[in-house]
Amino acid sequence: MSAPNIETIVSLAKRRGFVYPASEIYGGLGSSWDYGPLGVELANNIKRSWWNWAVYERDDIEGLDSSIILNRSVWKYSGHETTFSDPLVDCRECKSRLRQDKLDKNDEGKFVCSSCGSTNLTDPKDFNLMFRTTVGAASADDDPTSLAYLRPETAQGIFINFKNVLDTSRRKLPFGIAQIGKAFRNEVTPGNFIFRTREFEQMEIEYFVRPEEAATAHQEWIDGFDEWLRSVGISPENLKHYEQEKHELAHYSERTVDILYRFFPEREDEAKQWDELMGIANRTDYDLRVHSKKPEDAEGKRINPDSTEDLSYFDTATNERFYPYIIEPSTGVNRTLLAVMMDAYTERTNEKGETRVILQLKPEMAPIKVAVLPLAKNKPEIVEMAKRLKKDLQPSMRAVYDDTGGIGKLYARQDEIGTPFCVTIDHESLEDNAVTVRDRDTWTQERISVDALKEFLSSRL
Ligand code: ATP
Repeated sequence: MSAPNIETIVSLAKRRGFVYPASEIYGGLGSSWDYGPLGVELANNIKRSWWNWAVYERDDIEGLDSSIILNRSVWKYSGHETTFSDPLVDCRECKSRLRQDKLDKNDEGKFVCSSCGSTNLTDPKDFNLMFRTTVGAASADDDPTSLAYLRPETAQGIFINFKNVLDTSRRKLPFGIAQIGKAFRNEVTPGNFIFRTREFEQMEIEYFVRPEEAATAHQEWIDGFDEWLRSVGISPENLKHYEQEKHELAHYSERTVDILYRFFPEREDEAKQWDELMGIANRTDYDLRVHSKKPEDAEGKRINPDSTEDLSYFDTATNERFYPYIIEPSTGVNRTLLAVMMDAYTERTNEKGETRVILQLKPEMAPIKVAVLPLAKNKPEIVEMAKRLKKDLQPSMRAVYDDTGGIGKLYARQDEIGTPFCVTIDHESLEDNAVTVRDRDTWTQERISVDALKEFLSSRL
């Protein structure tokens, strides 16, 4: 089972401290969200798993953390200033502001307002998605020399550091650079909880290869990400590929495959249940070329007169100089978190006929690995033993102590947030130095000696 719709996750996330509406005490700020105590742990677990898999478990990737605000020239030569826009239309009937490329067409081929169904829409105009800001204390708001942008993707920070990383790490092709960080887009129609927001986080790899090896490397990354997504707990039946058609490809891309997740299982039309979780593009040699000082256009004019560097690569084995192709797997932290939560969502009925929510997260993803619960909170020896156990476990796994309810309620609370194990301390524990370990998914209980507890839990986590 997985969540029947996103709303189920919105309510669980708010109720249990995964995700809250941002700026809530001032009425919120359209489609902005804050990650609470459990949400930040889950997001960190996703990022850690990605970094381990993408950087540490391979021999050909280096990490990077580049700035959010870059020289404006980066966005000029990348093409973002002129082309990073969505087609904006207004509905004349209900005044909604819409993204034309996301609207359905009626039988006559006319776009239909997604709010009221009218076809009375304005002509589209390009709306640039980059957030503008000004840099420098004395700058006036409209001073073009101080204009800067919040990055709409982490990728450009990697391209402009290609030579730095190449020179300092003494790498040879193929190799990649990985980065996790915030990105900002002034989306026309944000929504569906954390699926589309104006501030979000990306995990991107730019993998540099010889042009003739690009197609194979591209396919390897697509297959690799299928596996990584499964490893964080997303089931294959909720994932599928979408091969972008030629007319949909970004101007720099030779081939792009999106991995889609079933974010909208409640929709009757199966084709509409899916939306993009991540994209994997073959960006050709476009990026390193446009940021280089050397390449010239047909009239012999430098295409980039502002760059001070040439980002080509010299292959000492073949004595060739060329601009590497780039394969870019780009994953959203927030969309992955939503997919992981939706996929883990399960309901189960207990012997009293009550329906309980269980978040069957992979132990690696679970915000809390073990909850230590005293069965009698008015008995100081039991409380003291429980607190000591929590402290002993904490260095090796995220553990919490909770005595704020009856045991049934405490178990239910931990099931709902995906804690794989609960450990209870009872009167007998004081005699036999053993505790009861309860499994989240099977609700079975086992008596384990305190001395063996850490190893018992670690082996199952
Ligand atoms: P979409 O078509 O949904 O707008 P995109 O194709 O523009 O997405 P990319 O530029 O390929 O997205 O960005 C890579 C990844 O970053 C996406 O697959 C997604 O996981 C994430 N992402 C992009 N925009 C947003 C956003 N506004 N909110 C949350 N995540 C986002």
